[in-house]
Amino acid sequence: MFMLSIVIPVYNEVESLSELYGEIDTLARRENYEFEILFVDDGSNDGSWNEIEKLAALDSRVRGIRFRRNFGKAAALDAGFSAAQGQIVITLDADLQDDPHEIPRFLEKMEEGFDVVSGWKKVRHDPWHKVGPSRVFNRMVGWLTGVHLHDHNCGFKTYRREIFHEVRLYGELHRFVPVLAHARGWRVDEIVINHRPRKHGRSKYGVWRIVKGFLDLLTVYFLTGFGQRPQHLLGAVGLLFFFLGGAGFFLLLTYRVLSWTVEFMEPKHLHTSPWFYISITALLLGAQFMSIGFLAELITAYHGRDSQAYSIEKRTGAVKPRV
Ligand code: UDP
Ligand code: MG
Repeated sequence: MFMLSIVIPVYNEVESLSELYGEIDTLARRENYEFEILFVDDGSNDGSWNEIEKLAALDSRVRGIRFRRNFGKAAALDAGFSAAQGQIVITLDADLQDDPHEIPRFLEKMEEGFDVVSGWKKVRHDPWHKVGPSRVFNRMVGWLTGVHLHDHNCGFKTYRREIFHEVRLYGELHRFVPVLAHARGWRVDEIVINHRPRKHGRSKYGVWRIVKGFLDLLTVYFLTGFGQRPQHLLGAVGLLFFFLGGAGFFLLLTYRVLSWTVEFMEPKHLHTSPWFYISITALLLGAQFMSIGFLAELITAYHGRDSQAYSIEKRTGAVKPRV
């Protein structure tokens, strides 16, 4: 039997914690799960930490980590992932919106051979200004990254713990773990889950999240596609600009030379044409992109080494000692 590590980010959710613990405990008894709960208190100031300490004193399977201040959900999850001991890591929100009774269905999906299973809040109990943009966002992520989940933002997900040896979290990239894992060949799928309205406290996120999510999407697209070879993207754009600028100058010069000999062509100074400036700008942009690309390569060459470019699933054959 395997152990589950349930990682729960907590930011001012005092009223929900013991109820959530109770639900998980009852479920684990019924299903005979071995588990640990990791509450990560992301700098709450409403007594959530006291509650966590109480639960930890009550049940040795409950552990708590407290941040000195609010660092954000991704940081809280990352701290939980580093501390997790179980083979399977489950994340769920502390606000009781994610229903722990879905855990068995997540595990069934994992047993089918998937490494990451994401929840999909098909019937969602959130305001329209969250649901609408979120739909567009999920479409875009699918289109740009090839990971077609309906609900990338969902906080309820399960992972094989090894994934976190390879996928590093920073910023607010927590919602992109499936995308980052998929890019390294891990198998990703989703299940429809029951979503409940928020009972206590209030939401910590507003519309601003969608803007940040979109910027993060671009970052993830860049990282997964070109993280190991940035010049292939930046250099390609640079070369394109070089080509356009070069072609512009070539045409301008050809015109100038021809105008000396061909009668009906009016001789013009180069700088009187707008194309002169457009071509110069293109050449400068080309040089910019190329040099930024080389800087990016330099950084990747020296610092990209700590993350391996590949991911090994298994090995076969005996290892002979090196001679
Ligand atoms: N959360 C956190 N740090 C933050 C913001 C939120 O740990 O800075 C936690 C929060 O306590 C909850 C989860 O992240 O457990 C999801 O937050 P929320 O329910 O406010 O998001 P929503 O469901 O409205 O999208
Ligand atoms: Mg919530």
